Amino acid sequence: MHVELQGVSKQYRTGDDREVRALDNVSLHIGEAEFVCLLGPSGCGKSTLLKLMAGIERPSAGSVRFAGKPVNGASTERGYVFQEYALFPWLTVDGNIRFGLELKGISRKRQQEAVERYLELLGLKQAARLYPKELSGGMSQRVAIARALILQPKLLLMDEPFAALDAILRRKLQEEVARLWRQENITFVLVTHDVEEAIYLADRIIVMSPGPGRIKEEVAVRLPRP
Ligand code: ADP
Ligand code: ADP
Repeated sequence: MHVELQGVSKQYRTGDDREVRALDNVSLHIGEAEFVCLLGPSGCGKSTLLKLMAGIERPSAGSVRFAGKPVNGASTERGYVFQEYALFPWLTVDGNIRFGLELKGISRKRQQEAVERYLELLGLKQAARLYPKELSGGMSQRVAIARALILQPKLLLMDEPFAALDAILRRKLQEEVARLWRQENITFVLVTHDVEEAIYLADRIIVMSPGPGRIKEEVAVRLPRP
């Protein structure tokens, strides 16, 4: 399903009551099942753009729509993987991955099948009973990714999801994401600092300007799909 941003601006108010401009009149169309990577220097508004699409921030001006409807709050249709994997510290790896399925009222048997599949997929079987404080950064990030994927979102928003991982694991997860994108009808928006990652994964790369959030250019990638 497609995402549509029209004339979106976002200002934050800081603790000392200053206004910080994060996005300035951004318009953007992301097509059904398109894979878009957002590239740009630190502070240019990439995370803000994702949070607006996720519905966890509201625009100061303009509109954000998903599948034709205004985005209003978070929804399981729109998965979001944070830069800093916000796992529930009181739940095990298994419990963290299962959490959303429980909320959706999925039967115990189907929960179990899905959790086992995603534990396997992300190499977390040995870690199923561990708590977040016992995990390395890379493992935590894999749990965060599994937790989002298991809900089979129509739109998956990822904020530097592989930044904390070693090179081998990063490539494995990039391949996994590319496979999911081919097989499932998911629209992907991924923020990265890694130009190679963007070229490997994206249909289109959106490059943001340094300074207050504007789009500098859009580059269509014409490599054979991974
Ligand atoms: P990155 O550049 O790696 O995407 P972040 O998105 O975490 O890093 O932060 C980008 C900038 O936004 C940083 O300068 C950070 O200090 C600032 N920032 C993030 N969250 C807040 C906040 N809640 N209050 C003030 N500044 C913030
Ligand atoms: P990026 O992800 O590209 O690093 P962000 O979207 O995190 O950029 O931040 C864009 C701008 O908004 C930065 O100047 C940052 O400091 C500011 N910012 C982000 N979040 C907050 C916040 N919660 N409160 C105040 N300023 C923020």
